[in-house]
Amino acid sequence: MTRLTRKYLSWLAVCVGPITAAYIGIAVFARPAFAANSLVGWLLMALAGLGIVALVTLSFVLARRLLRPLDQLAADLSEATAIHELPLGLDSDLGGVAQSINELRQSLADTQRSHDYLRRLLGSISDAILVTDRDGRITYANSAAAELLDFPSAALSGRPIRQLIDVDLGSKARPGERAARSSDGTFSRRDGTPLPVSYTVAELRDDQNEPEGWIVAAQNSAERRRAENRIKFLARTDPLTKISNRMQFQHQLQQSIARSRRSHQSLALLYIDIDRFKDINDTLGHSAGDRALEIFAQRIVAHMPDGAIAGRLAGDEFALIVGNLDRLGDAIDRATELAQTLLHAVGRPFRMEAQEIYVTSSIGIAICPRDADNVIDLLRDADAALYQAKRAGGNCFEIFSEEMSTATVDRLMLKSKLRRAFERDELRLHYQPKYELATGKIAGAEALVRWEVPDKGLVYPSDFIPIAEESNLILQLGDWVFNQVCEDYRHWQSSLAAPSIVSLNLSLKQLQQHRFLEKLQGIFRSHHVSPTCLELEITETTLMDDADRTVQLLNALYAMGLHLTIDDFGTGYSSLSSLQQFPISTLKIDQSFIRDFAIDTDDAAIVDAIINMAHSLGLKVVAEGVESDRQLELLRQKRCDYVQGHLFGDPMTADQLLETMMEQADGSGRYRQLFA
Ligand code: C2E
Ligand code: MG
Ligand code: MG
Repeated sequence: MTRLTRKYLSWLAVCVGPITAAYIGIAVFARPAFAANSLVGWLLMALAGLGIVALVTLSFVLARRLLRPLDQLAADLSEATAIHELPLGLDSDLGGVAQSINELRQSLADTQRSHDYLRRLLGSISDAILVTDRDGRITYANSAAAELLDFPSAALSGRPIRQLIDVDLGSKARPGERAARSSDGTFSRRDGTPLPVSYTVAELRDDQNEPEGWIVAAQNSAERRRAENRIKFLARTDPLTKISNRMQFQHQLQQSIARSRRSHQSLALLYIDIDRFKDINDTLGHSAGDRALEIFAQRIVAHMPDGAIAGRLAGDEFALIVGNLDRLGDAIDRATELAQTLLHAVGRPFRMEAQEIYVTSSIGIAICPRDADNVIDLLRDADAALYQAKRAGGNCFEIFSEEMSTATVDRLMLKSKLRRAFERDELRLHYQPKYELATGKIAGAEALVRWEVPDKGLVYPSDFIPIAEESNLILQLGDWVFNQVCEDYRHWQSSLAAPSIVSLNLSLKQLQQHRFLEKLQGIFRSHHVSPTCLELEITETTLMDDADRTVQLLNALYAMGLHLTIDDFGTGYSSLSSLQQFPISTLKIDQSFIRDFAIDTDDAAIVDAIINMAHSLGLKVVAEGVESDRQLELLRQKRCDYVQGHLFGDPMTADQLLETMMEQADGSGRYRQLFA
């Protein structure tokens, strides 16, 4: 209805009333006067006419006064609608009406503001927001949702949300639940590509608490999932070898044990340790050590059966889980076969920095459930078996047995007992003579320490030197050996004019200790023994640990008159020429090469090469571990200088050595005929 029409109708309504009243008045009161045609009648008629005019005028004035505020109100409201803004207050004489309208408008203005604010808010957040009705049809999607799904906002309206996301709204949001837990799901974008999202669903309810629909808030989780996967990978994987780290491996072992328990099957755990890995690190450096570990891991993985799990437990310790083994016999057979394959595979040489590197390893095997049915005990048993394999010389494997677990406990006991061995005077020194091959004469003797444990007998150095080396006990032990050798030597000197030179084995820690030189000088002085009567045996790896410092120290020892020998040569990775910098006179070939060199052509070639190269550098050569006449004969042919070994009897006490040396002095040496 237009404004004019409304005004016209208002006028009509206001004017029709009085005019109608006037007509009725004339009709009722003036009718008799007209009928009499008298002057009074005319006068009454005139008066009635005037009254009508006055009434019309009065009505007009009253109507105008009444309509003006309504007009004003209409004009204000119309103007406000035209500019889409509601003024804060309406000025009107209509009192209550205007006030009600004002309140209504205020509330409308508030709603409009809230609505705009909400739109701006939803439009500006980065989460995709989708609102649906009770049937799951989208009624609102913010710009982030449109962007995420690659749809224009308008195109999302009315779509069933299930077309876009694999979610059962009802199951995700239970009535009355305010904030649902975040779930991972997949959105389909407009082109059908799947998009990983994490989302929450909440149910919307109206004022009467009736279900109205759902609101879904979603985020693109592709990036987060990538980051999470990376973190998981880093937390579970050894960064160098890319196989499981210790934590992850133990977790996998736990799962494998549980699986084998459920399926009543066996499982084999192989604990693998690289032999003499420290030597690679010490001699070739840590990056070469790392490379060796990588190659080692690659070889294990390449040769393990399908479904097996490999892990790096620590430095050079690796492990393998082989599951699904039907019977105990099957488990032992498969583990044995695998251990042999691995020993062979990792033992193949590889090149590094123009050098051929040989890495051997030792393996300990434990079977679940035969030996243990939990992670800790199974690892401990495999470790005990590994320890036995190491003791057997390495490059071999052992399967766990009950006696081994006793051996592990014994090893720990040994450490604490060793501390007390000094006070209880349980250490002994034996001597192993060294013979000159050309003449059969004793050319020296090596001092070898033993530990006499009550109720147990003699314990050999390979069982306690590594334990002593883990702590400073090795220094105490070294001092004891030096003092004992000097004491024995002094005693021999009282019976013999010139006892043979005595060799002592030196550990790295001894060489590294502060004021080592002064300490030795003090010992020699106190026993009145000349340093020229003694020889120090130092392994290749000890020499190479800090070559610059060692050269200086050895020069000083040499200047004192001490003889210097390289022990266990061939087991480290140093070249002969790199040893030239040290003031060394003798080289001892490691007994592992001598052991089989009479039957193994490779070992024979190595021994041959070492002897020739040593001679070309002016060094004397000792072969240790000589056990047979055949070995002795071959060494003679290869022009080896000295021999040492069980062929000439076990290492002996100081008194026995004195006896042997005296026999030689009077020409009745027992071993002379072997050299004849
Ligand atoms: P090593 O210096 O290489 O000593 C040679 C080892 O070979 C000795 O073992 C010796 O008994 C053994 N042996 C000698 N001839 C034969 C043989 O014909 N066949 C076989 N199979 N073995 C033979 P032992 O006495 O058990 O010593 C082992 C290692 O312990 C020594 O190796 C040495 O490195 C270390 N060691 C011994 N005494 C001391 C010591 O007083 N101080 C330090 N730091 N280490 C020591
Ligand atoms: Mg030695
Ligand atoms: Mg040796």
